[in-house]
Amino acid sequence: MLATGRDGLGGPAIPAFVKGVPRSRWAHSSDALDYTRLRGQRVAIVGAGSSAMDSAATALECGAASVDLFVRRADIPRINKSKASGVPGLTHGHHDLPDAWKWRIRHYINAQQVPPPRGSTQRVSRHPNAHFHTGAPIERIETRPAADGTLDSLRIHTPRGTLDADFLIVSTGFVIDWTQRPAFAAFAPHVRLWQDRFRPDPADADAELAASPDLGPVFEFQEKTPGACPGLDRIHAFCYPAALSFGTISGDIPAISDGARRLATGIASLFYREDVEHHWQVLQDYAEPELQGDEWTPAAPGRLTQRE
Ligand SMILES: Cc1cc2nc3c(=O)[nH]c(=O)nc-3n(C[C@H](O)[C@H](O)[C@H](O)COP(=O)(O)OP(=O)(O)OC[C@H]3O[C@@H](n4cnc5c(N)ncnc54)[C@H](O)[C@@H]3O)c2cc1C
Repeated sequence: MLATGRDGLGGPAIPAFVKGVPRSRWAHSSDALDYTRLRGQRVAIVGAGSSAMDSAATALECGAASVDLFVRRADIPRINKSKASGVPGLTHGHHDLPDAWKWRIRHYINAQQVPPPRGSTQRVSRHPNAHFHTGAPIERIETRPAADGTLDSLRIHTPRGTLDADFLIVSTGFVIDWTQRPAFAAFAPHVRLWQDRFRPDPADADAELAASPDLGPVFEFQEKTPGACPGLDRIHAFCYPAALSFGTISGDIPAISDGARRLATGIASLFYREDVEHHWQVLQDYAEPELQGDEWTPAAPGRLTQRE
């Protein structure tokens, strides 16, 4: 069972504009980072989700000189649509929905995006040196030599203008990307993905959903080509990329416990079917008496009238 989390079949999503920025000058929000090293530095954050707010607030609390958040959208999403989807029907029935409905629901939630928590956002905004730039997608980043020969600047270009920073934190989430999971290389090419058998309306194209594994009823991988990778269905993906097949029951409150129960009972059922001859033998060999034979005495002779 791959209970490998939000980035369970991949890793951090790294935007193309980071290419060329020295590795010592940027981090992904999921990287281990000693934020105290950002004291006195000008920090730029990419994104406005939960991770972005956590990164920004931590940098500010560790003494960053300034924190600028770059947000592509004209506004930060305010409504968490996924909360409205969390009904018992989704928990127990998403997997049984027609494909088109599964896609429509997951794509809508993806496109609407989940807002950061209000408390996390205020943890950032209460600092006077925090700056939110909406409608400011980063187009490119230029490394510029510092005038005093100390630290180079990262010049950030957006359609709304430029800004110089010392350190960049990309809080850009995660992608399904098997190349970031070399341990899975032996079976990865055989996993059937949604893009292998489902074509959404072009207006609903969604790279994350297209790359999602097309899972069987117990979260098991299925073969792209039947017979090409025997045993693949013994690997169960109980991680976030299961969301298109199952809804969010393999990560996130409130339904992860229901998902775990579904997985556990499903595995018990599969084991039972696989071991049924053993269980049949156990059944036949079973010999523990419930009665010892001393719980009653036979009726006295003559109790019954003899048949004529
Ligand atoms: C910024 C952020 C905010 C979130 N906020 C919420 C929230 O408010 N509420 C909520 O319900 N959920 C939230 N989530 C989702 C959260 O990730 C899940 O709810 C929860 O952590 C899922 O638990 P898990 O055990 O499936 O995965 P994880 O907690 O991610 O655990 C996966 C584990 O697998 C390990 N692992 C991965 N690959 C391997 C490997 N190859 N070998 C060995 N070990 C490996 C990892 O090290 C990790 O310990 C948030 C996620 C993020 C990123």
